Amino acid sequence: ATVDVDALVRLLGDVPTEREPTIVRRRSRDFFWYSPILADALKHVAADIIVRPRDEADVIRTASACAKLRIPLTVRAGGTGNYGQAMPLAGGVLLEMTELTGVVWQKPGSVRVRAGTNILALDQETRPNGYELRMHPSTKRTATIGGFVAGGSGGVGSVAYGGLREPGNILAARVVTVEEEPRILELRQDAAQKVNRAYGTTGIITELEMPTAPAWAWIDVIVAFDSFAEAFAAGRDIAHADGVVKKLVTPIAWPIPGHFVSLKDACPEGKAILICMIAEPFMESFEAILGGRGTLTYRAPSREEPGETPLYEYAWNHTTLQWLKTDRSITYLQLLYPHDRLEESVRQMAALFEGEVLPHLEFIRFGGRVTCSALPVVRYTSPERLFEIIRLHEEHGVMVANPHVFGLEGGSRHKRAEADQLGFKAQVDPMGLLNPGKMESFVPVR
Ligand code: FAD
Repeated sequence: ATVDVDALVRLLGDVPTEREPTIVRRRSRDFFWYSPILADALKHVAADIIVRPRDEADVIRTASACAKLRIPLTVRAGGTGNYGQAMPLAGGVLLEMTELTGVVWQKPGSVRVRAGTNILALDQETRPNGYELRMHPSTKRTATIGGFVAGGSGGVGSVAYGGLREPGNILAARVVTVEEEPRILELRQDAAQKVNRAYGTTGIITELEMPTAPAWAWIDVIVAFDSFAEAFAAGRDIAHADGVVKKLVTPIAWPIPGHFVSLKDACPEGKAILICMIAEPFMESFEAILGGRGTLTYRAPSREEPGETPLYEYAWNHTTLQWLKTDRSITYLQLLYPHDRLEESVRQMAALFEGEVLPHLEFIRFGGRVTCSALPVVRYTSPERLFEIIRLHEEHGVMVANPHVFGLEGGSRHKRAEADQLGFKAQVDPMGLLNPGKMESFVPVR
């Protein structure tokens, strides 16, 4: 359907907009090109206009205008999602949230923040008081807190606290509905899960209340091992050591570290590595647990200021990015290993896909158990083979969150269902204008 942009602009009044086609097209993209399948399927996607709300009143005005004119509205923040989460499949408005910033209040253990706040900036506000977010995506330096809650799942810190889906990891969300007279809803505790990883299909988040954790001086460490099995075993021992405060435990198989160009000296030829972030007072315990296994090749305070690269930018989804910088022939998967057969299952998959699916694990807590999620690098040959690899993992009891589909349902099969995102959508977006095409099972109610 054609969008009446002039009528929209009249209704928006002084809300800032951008209509220059090259800018609109560029902002209509995210890291979808990570997937060769999505790179092809979504390359023509573009919004008709960008709207940049300055405050919640502007968000409400935009939501109302879109509802009156039946114009699709897709929220975008840092634009770092990697399955086209923020790409406006049906055109319309791209609502850029990056001006809605700032801490509303903070106290020991929690912070209330506007959704467009950059995650590093948020930590910089709470750190002087001794607190930081419990977890962040490896895109911390570019992503927003709203984008993380709406598009992400967990990351650096999940080895201690689990993912965003764990009770207590999102305290509350303030949401604007898309109706001619938009409402503001405060979702607390489990109700806040209705916006978690819903790709902005279940309301526009304007504020979040997030739990915080004690802020430590983090030490970035790399340990090199002769084999991936040894890196895995050491990582498991660190992940299980409840007395050692840690934020990242990441075993990576060779040849992946061979693509970490700026870490060349810390990644010896042919060696698997274990990347960790350990709280400074626990470095001695960390080394005691290693007990002489492996070679410590890197140790430095984690630095996030411009010009520095914290080691977490080699972990989570950044591992694949480091390789993609020089070679687009590879892609990746997102896996969750069974906690009760972890070692056996990791070994089985490594053997089954030797040389084709290259292991990169992330130790996490999931439902209170220590297990591994994984973002292995896959040598890409064809869509058919990629889907076969996915099927074989599932047949062996490894869960796959398929990053090669843009729809919510196809992508996140292990997402909790009880928050009832589908039913909630009917209340907050009855016409189905929010990010159309992403929640495929939704049928507009009016
Ligand atoms: P965007 O990409 O702009 O948006 C993400 C989704 O959220 C979209 O569907 C958008 O519509 C929606 N959205 C954004 N803001 C709002 C709002 N205010 N209200 C409603 N909906 C909204 N993810 C992880 O979970 N963990 C990781 O460690 C991780 N590492 C990554 C590494 C790389 C290199 C890349 C490219 C991606 C990674 N991701 C990771 C995915 C992504 O970076 C995160 O999900 C990130 O937090 C998204 O934030 P953003 O501000 O860029 O959001």
